[in-house]
Amino acid sequence: MSFSGQKFAVVGLGRNGLPAARALRDLGADVVAWDDVAEARAFAAAEGIVVKDPDMAGLDAVVLSPGIPHLRAGAHPIAVRARQAGVPILSDAELLFRAVRARGSRARFAGITGTNGKSTTTALLAHILATAGWPVAAGGNLGVAALALPYLPDNGVYVLEMSSYMLERLATLRFDVATMLNISADHIDRHGDMRGYVSAKRAIFDRQEAGDVAILGVDDETSRTMAEQLRAGPARVVAISSRTPVPGLASARALPGAHNAQNAAAATAMAQALGVDADAIAEGIATYPGLPHRQEVVAEARGVRFVNDSKATNADSAACALACYQRVIWIAGGTAKEGGIESLAPFFPRVVEALLIGRDSPMLAATLAAHGVAHREVGTLDAAVAAAWDSAREAGIPILLSPACASWDQFTGFDQRGDRFRTLARAIAAGEA
Ligand code: ADP
Repeated sequence: MSFSGQKFAVVGLGRNGLPAARALRDLGADVVAWDDVAEARAFAAAEGIVVKDPDMAGLDAVVLSPGIPHLRAGAHPIAVRARQAGVPILSDAELLFRAVRARGSRARFAGITGTNGKSTTTALLAHILATAGWPVAAGGNLGVAALALPYLPDNGVYVLEMSSYMLERLATLRFDVATMLNISADHIDRHGDMRGYVSAKRAIFDRQEAGDVAILGVDDETSRTMAEQLRAGPARVVAISSRTPVPGLASARALPGAHNAQNAAAATAMAQALGVDADAIAEGIATYPGLPHRQEVVAEARGVRFVNDSKATNADSAACALACYQRVIWIAGGTAKEGGIESLAPFFPRVVEALLIGRDSPMLAATLAAHGVAHREVGTLDAAVAAAWDSAREAGIPILLSPACASWDQFTGFDQRGDRFRTLARAIAAGEA
């Protein structure tokens, strides 16, 4: 078995860690697992996983959950001990790569990073490959945990969404095709500064060789500079942008807006680099079904579309969605990010009315009032959908949930918020049918 005789500590037993612990055990490794939360420990122990605060002696690696910092201030004490003891800290993507190679498969690896658009581009490339009939498995950062992905033969492709934190925990994984979509000043706190964040992103191209392909979005200055630097390296560099023509995009209902044009250009360039033929790529783009909570059309009633963009937890993301509509009834609010929604002012003329929910609705209301935008503070999502429908039903204007805020004050996460919106919207549509 791939990991017989090796010993790993898996730290953080959530959506990634638990499958990682299981998979490593099933691949023959000696596994100890740890989580600071007693409930999570009990859950793992109930599956027969050995749970204890790991001793560094004899460990081959520590596998740290993507959400747990290992560098700089805030590093987890176990990570600090591992570094002191010289034990490598690895992501599950690295171990997937090792397991696949250990079983003798030459399946290729495609990696995707960037500040925004990772999940969309990952799902889109996987859909293109599946459309072309190729064996494909996709996951990583937000989807299926890397180590829970199936084994693929030589002609298979793993499509991995890579966060910066995962990229900092690679040792041998080499991407045959790697993409860096864009960089914006998000996420800087965890990486200390912008330079740390940028160099973590650039690590997706580490270890690439001649014959490999490095794809970069060049719509922002930082990414453009990175593309120029990479031209000195062995990989073939392909620059894409939101203005790159993409066959099939005109008929792709699930890819609205300039931001999705960037994602589609990246997925197209990746599929080309992997050798998929042009017709299959265009067909894959045109038939992409979309991801939940990202401008997902969840219902339609009396010509009014209900659009679930609950994933938009900051103003930049909400801007992508607002840019897609000339007139819109906008549901926003929750726990605001620094700067609130002031940066969305260029889109305010499109907002016929805003319905505000959640903790920071007074702050959002103040911004909207200052710009003369019609708005109501309605408290809950249920009240917002009802109020939005009252305003939209006669005018036939789309209703967009794109909160520009985190959801933690009222929901367990953006997915629960989006699911609730979908339920409410479908109930209205059913009532009208
Ligand atoms: P990620 O996985 O990087 O968080 P997603 O594909 O889940 O990205 O998209 C999340 C949100 O980010 C989308 O709803 C949209 O608002 C915005 N977004 C998506 N792609 C891009 C892009 N290429 N550039 C800027 N913003 C984007």
